[in-house]
Amino acid sequence: MLLLAVIGCGDAAKKENESNIVNMDPQFDRYKGQFIEELWKVYPGWASSQGYHKYDSILVIPAADARSKELAFAKANLDSLKAFDLKGLSDNNKTDYFMIENQLKSIEWSINSMRSFEWNPSEYNVCGAFAEMLNGNYDSLDVRLRNFYVKMLNIPAYYTAAKENIKNPTVEHTQLAIDQNLGGMSVFEKDLHEALNKVRFGEHEKQAIEARAKEAIVAIKGYAEWLKKLDNKTPRSFRLGKELYAQKFEYDIQSGYSADQIYEKAIAHKKELHEKMFALADKLWVKYMNKAEKPSDKLVLIKQVIDKISVKHVKPEEFQSEIEKQIPALVEFIKEKDLIYIDPSKPLVVRKEPDYMAGVAGASISAPGPYDKNGNTYYNVGSLNGWDKERAESYLREYNHYILQILNIHEAIPGHYTQLVYSNQSPSLIKALFGNGAMIEGWAVYTERMMLESGYGNNEDEMWLMYYKWNLRATCNTILDYSVHTKDMSKEDALNLLVNEAFQQQAEAEGKWKRVSLTQVQLCSYFTGYTEIYDFREELKKMQGDKFNLKAFHEKFLSYGSAPVKYIRELMLAEMNQTKN
Ligand code: ZN
Ligand code: ZN
Repeated sequence: MLLLAVIGCGDAAKKENESNIVNMDPQFDRYKGQFIEELWKVYPGWASSQGYHKYDSILVIPAADARSKELAFAKANLDSLKAFDLKGLSDNNKTDYFMIENQLKSIEWSINSMRSFEWNPSEYNVCGAFAEMLNGNYDSLDVRLRNFYVKMLNIPAYYTAAKENIKNPTVEHTQLAIDQNLGGMSVFEKDLHEALNKVRFGEHEKQAIEARAKEAIVAIKGYAEWLKKLDNKTPRSFRLGKELYAQKFEYDIQSGYSADQIYEKAIAHKKELHEKMFALADKLWVKYMNKAEKPSDKLVLIKQVIDKISVKHVKPEEFQSEIEKQIPALVEFIKEKDLIYIDPSKPLVVRKEPDYMAGVAGASISAPGPYDKNGNTYYNVGSLNGWDKERAESYLREYNHYILQILNIHEAIPGHYTQLVYSNQSPSLIKALFGNGAMIEGWAVYTERMMLESGYGNNEDEMWLMYYKWNLRATCNTILDYSVHTKDMSKEDALNLLVNEAFQQQAEAEGKWKRVSLTQVQLCSYFTGYTEIYDFREELKKMQGDKFNLKAFHEKFLSYGSAPVKYIRELMLAEMNQTKN
C-alpha cells in the first residue's frame, strides 16, 4: 500500500517528502544484527543447521513454555519493526523488513492456527541434528563430541514433551515419524561409537557419553513404540483444508496471487500446454511413427511421440561429461543473445557429486551456508556408475538429449547458479536465511522458457515438445497440491493427472503422491514464482514498448536478491515511475 502511495505522489509532494526522509539504514542494519542474535537464542537448532555453532550444545524441549518464548520473540520484534519508516530504508532493507515481518507473523500463525506440533509427529526427531554434529568439519571432533554429549541430556525430556503435544495425529505423519526416528537412531547406536574411537578421551568420559547415548536410544525407541500403539480413533486428515491452505500459501509463497488464483492459472496453463503439445506431436508423427495409425485420444498421441523422442540420450558413461560440456555452450549462447551479464570471474565449479550425495544422480547446486563466507559453490553432477542397465536406461530416457539441456539451464546457467551470483552482490543475511523459495525456483523455471524463446535449441519442435512436458510437471505439481489439500482429490485421480495428463512414470507419480500427503504448499512454489516473473515481464513489455530491454530487466530483477517477486515488482515499478517524473 505504501509503495503504491509513493507512485501516486505528485511532483511537488514528492520533493517535499524526499527532503524530510531520514536515512534509517544504519539503525536498521544494527537492528537486523540484534534480531538474528535473538533468533538464534530462540532457535538454537536452526542456528546450528545454518552454520552458526554458538548454541550447538542446546536442545530445546518442545513444551508449552518454548512456544510462549517464540510468541514473545515474534511480538517483541513486530513491535520493533514499527519504529522504522520504510521510506528511510534502501530497497535491500525494505525487502529485508518485509521478510522479517513475514517470518514473525508466520511464527505466530504456526503456533496459533496451523498447530502442526499437535498433529505431525514427524516434527519430533533429534537424529538429523546429531548426525550433522558428527559429520560436520566446522570444528575439531573433540569439541563436537563434547557438545554432542551436553546436547543429549535433554533427549528424554524432548520426547516426553512430544508425547504431551500430540493429539489426533494424521496416519501418514505418524508412520513417517516412526520410520524416520527408528531409521535415524543409528547415529547413537553406531556412528557415535566410531567417532569415539577416533578421539583420545579418558575412559571415564567415554563411558559417560555411552551411558547417555543409551538413554537417548531408549527415549527414541520409546517414542516410536508409543506412536505404534497410539489409540488414535479420530486421526486428522493429512489434507490441510481450504482455510489453512490459503494462509500457509500466503506465508510460505508470499505471492501477489492467492492460492485460488494460482490454481486457476495452472488449470488454464495445463490446457494451453496440451494444445501446443498436440500440435507439435501431430506434426512430428510421421517422422517418428512412420505409417502407424494415429490414436484418436490426443494425450495418447502426445505420449507415443514423447516416448520415441526420449530414446535419444547420452550413453551412461557420458552423462557427466555431457553436462560439463554444456555449461560453456550456455554461457556462449547468453553472450551472443545478450540476455544477461555473466560474471567471468565467478565460473561455476563443476564436480563429481561427493560420496554422501551419491545415488541421486542428476545435477544440483551446492552453495556455501550464510556463515561460510569462503566456501565454494559447486555444480554437483551425479554419475550412473554401478546402476543396472534397466534403471540407467529409464533414467536416461527421462533426462534425454533435450531435457538434460533444460536441466542445465534450470540448475546452472542462467538458472539457480546465476541467480546466486547476483544475490551475493547485495549480501543480506536475512535473505540468505529466509530466501523466498518461490522467487528462487520461479527464476530457474522462468529461464527455461526465456532461453527457448530466445532461440536456444534452434526452435526445434522436439525441444519445445520436451520443454512443454517438463513445464507440465511444475504446472501439475500446483494442481495436485491444491486439489489434494483443498478439494479432496483422490489418489486415483491424482495418479491419473500425473501419469496420463503430465506423462510421468508410475513410480514418479507414486512418489509425488507420497510427497503431497506429507507436505503442503511447497509443490506450488515452482509454478507460482515462474508465473509471477513471466507475467511481470509481459506487463513491463506492454508498459515500455520499444524501450523494453530483456537484459536490463533480468539484471535489475536479480539485483534485489532472493526476495518475494511481489516486492521486487513493486520496487521496480516505483523506481520506474520516479525516473519518469
Ligand atoms: Zn536408450
Ligand atoms: Zn530448482
